[in-house]
Amino acid sequence: MARSFLLRASRSPWLAEQFRRRAFARRAVRRFMPGESLLDALDASAELAKASMGTVLTQLGEQVRNAAEAEDVRDHYLNVLDQVRDRFLPAQVSVKLTHLGLDVDRDTCLRHVRALAEKARKEGCFLWIDMEESGYVDATLDLYRRVRQEGPGVGVCLQAYLRRTPQDLTALLPLSPAIRLVKGAYNEPGTVALPRKTDVDAQYSTLAVQLLDAAAAGRATAVFGTHDLPLIERIREQAAARKADGRYEVHMLYGIRSDAQRRLAGQGVKVRVLISYGSHWFAWYMRRLAERPANVWFVVRSLF
Ligand SMILES: Cc1cc2nc3c(=O)[nH]c(=O)nc-3n(C[C@H](O)[C@H](O)[C@H](O)COP(=O)(O)OP(=O)(O)OC[C@H]3O[C@@H](n4cnc5c(N)ncnc54)[C@H](O)[C@@H]3O)c2cc1C
Repeated sequence: MARSFLLRASRSPWLAEQFRRRAFARRAVRRFMPGESLLDALDASAELAKASMGTVLTQLGEQVRNAAEAEDVRDHYLNVLDQVRDRFLPAQVSVKLTHLGLDVDRDTCLRHVRALAEKARKEGCFLWIDMEESGYVDATLDLYRRVRQEGPGVGVCLQAYLRRTPQDLTALLPLSPAIRLVKGAYNEPGTVALPRKTDVDAQYSTLAVQLLDAAAAGRATAVFGTHDLPLIERIREQAAARKADGRYEVHMLYGIRSDAQRRLAGQGVKVRVLISYGSHWFAWYMRRLAERPANVWFVVRSLF
């Protein structure tokens, strides 16, 4: 119930405005982001690189309302790719399609993603496409297919909680895709997503094995986006059994299980930390609270 309440609240513009104006909320949010500016994110990326960890940078924001806003977002990421190159950072980039104008005009959004994918390829970087609410999955996968057919260096996120994801993964594999498998962060009806966490975890494990098989055969790039440590251990065992140790990465969010991130990297696992930055953090922050409602106590503590 707490999860569903927090996820519904994440869509309230009024609450977003209230939170953004409160100093205690800004303090609480700092737990999950190094700062609001791109420079904060780049500096954090440089710090993590010292501990042998790569990063993925993403500017917070979604569902832009007009073409000009979407263009600004594209230009922002083109600049990020320049900065990553200039600072020699082991950083990739991740975007949300609704931030690049998917709701405004699909063809324009496709052009923006193409421009970013081309630039990422030119700079030897990598572009990830996030997965948003279930209503966007068809459009996201369609766009991913088109951009992937034009060249490598681009990957998409799949959510294990969706009932459709086993079919989606199977359908994508002939493309030699790059897949970041996550559990799923949105409020979805039971008809679309598995309502029980144990079923989501089981579906994640099954999909992870399928993805590892493809990665071991050189037919996919496998990324596991999770903080579930027992699950990561099982994935490591499965990878070792397939002699696919170096053929996958584990991605985690900045500020969550940082000790485990360092430990895994120290043990030779390829770890990347996804760093979010920007001022539009409310909906994203609510999703982090919903993942672990105990986090609400951090907000309460920030009041004092
Ligand atoms: C790199 C990355 C990219 C992602 N991209 C997307 C995306 O594009 N689309 C999407 O829908 N979702 C995305 N997510 C979010 C994902 O769907 C889950 O909501 C999130 O990762 C929590 O699930 P979990 O796999 O960590 O497992 P869980 O079983 O939820 O958590 C395992 C353990 O991790 C710790 N933990 C998990 N979340 C938190 C938290 N917020 N605060 C503190 N501790 C926590 C807890 O100790 C928990 O017991 C992404 C996640 C990662 C790591």
